Amino acid sequence: MTHLQTHLAAVEFDSNLIARYDGSGPRYTSYPTADRFVEGAISEQYCAALRKRQAKDPDSALSLYVHLPFCDTVCYYCACNKIATKDRSRADLYLDYLEREISLVRQEFLTAPKVTQLHLGGGTPTFLTNTQLDRLMQMLKQAFAFMPDAECSIEIDPRRLNEGALELLAHYGFNRMSIGVQDLDPHVQKAVNRIQPAALTQDALERGRALGFRSINLDLIYGLPKQSVGTMQATLQTVLQWRPERIALYSYAHLPERFMPQRRIDTDDLPNASIKLAMLKLAVTTLLAAGYVYIGMDHFSLPEDDLALALEEGTLQRNFQGYSTQADCDLIALGVSAISRIGDTYAQNHRVLLDYYKALDENSLPLAKGLTMTQDDLIRRAAIQDLLCQSRIDIPEFEERWKIDFADYFAPDLIQIHKLAHDELVDLTDQSIYITPRGRFLARVVAMRFDRHLRHATSTAKFSRVL
Ligand code: SF4
Repeated sequence: MTHLQTHLAAVEFDSNLIARYDGSGPRYTSYPTADRFVEGAISEQYCAALRKRQAKDPDSALSLYVHLPFCDTVCYYCACNKIATKDRSRADLYLDYLEREISLVRQEFLTAPKVTQLHLGGGTPTFLTNTQLDRLMQMLKQAFAFMPDAECSIEIDPRRLNEGALELLAHYGFNRMSIGVQDLDPHVQKAVNRIQPAALTQDALERGRALGFRSINLDLIYGLPKQSVGTMQATLQTVLQWRPERIALYSYAHLPERFMPQRRIDTDDLPNASIKLAMLKLAVTTLLAAGYVYIGMDHFSLPEDDLALALEEGTLQRNFQGYSTQADCDLIALGVSAISRIGDTYAQNHRVLLDYYKALDENSLPLAKGLTMTQDDLIRRAAIQDLLCQSRIDIPEFEERWKIDFADYFAPDLIQIHKLAHDELVDLTDQSIYITPRGRFLARVVAMRFDRHLRHATSTAKFSRVL
């Protein structure tokens, strides 16, 4: 049996265990998580990290992320950092400032840095007109050296897809897209203010494929108002006919006190925890039966997709975009609220647009907060990556890599892991910690036991839950 076949076989949906262990927890797109970032004085650390990189490895490749925050309507479930407006000219001003940010970042490099990965996220990247999109890509191509085989991806809203936009993206080398779907039921779509007929989604997907986009991802959500096991079944049936290479299945977290648009959702319309669990079970079993591989956390892919192959080869990574096949490379993130990571340093831009503009008006990098990881952070980050990407920690290999005595270093954490082993979420030996088939949907519960910062947190309510 190959590694992949083992993973394929090694998923067990245990409703009781999931219900018992469900609680709020980080999704570990970074460790330490962004809520640990410290305000102020991050620019110096960030520039020092860039200089260190220049001195050590000037030719190593970079990943780029650009945050485009505008949406012309608001989906009521949304928890993203976005700006609702119908005024397309606001994106012109935003691009003026992005240009300044790109120029400030570029000054830190002697030659155009190599880029192997670009992601445009939002908000709604396709809010931009084709002229604006063209300008953005010209700005990026002038400042950075894109490798011919660069992976370029974009989040697509089929409701806001200008005529010719996909062709323009393909011309600039975009080869991946992620399409927000959530649920195809008209009542659910009305309840969340996102009317998106199935034909629109199918059209975007098919046109993308015809233009050479591959690894097309569809986002689905369970736990939305008016959703039921029946609506989930119907949505899955249609989505599976389209056979997207990747499917992300997210849980809706109703936190109206934090996210204003969610106050428009009638709580009476929300499915309860047991219906959510039933929807999750249906979705998971349906996707597995249809031949999808469970990658981890919220992600599934077809067995021939790069994500499944990376899982098989043990090269899967986790970063701000979720799971990735790219080696763990530095990330430069541009735009309001975007988070960069260079070497050991995380740095986040201002979250409020006017603060972001003000910093750039002062000719400063628009950084608000961040942190430089300690050696302990790096060790724990590696442990969490191993658990979420490989479902195991190989203890002798880990000790060799980090020059530690595992049992000694993680003594308090291992007491907690022993409790999880008692419930058969993990197999724990002197040689490895292995997440069992019934523990795989609760991998982040295992990862949380290695999170030193969580031990000191007063509450985890700010994080999402499974149910
Ligand atoms: S879900 Fe996406 S499209 Fe909807 S409001 Fe949020 S960012 Fe905009």
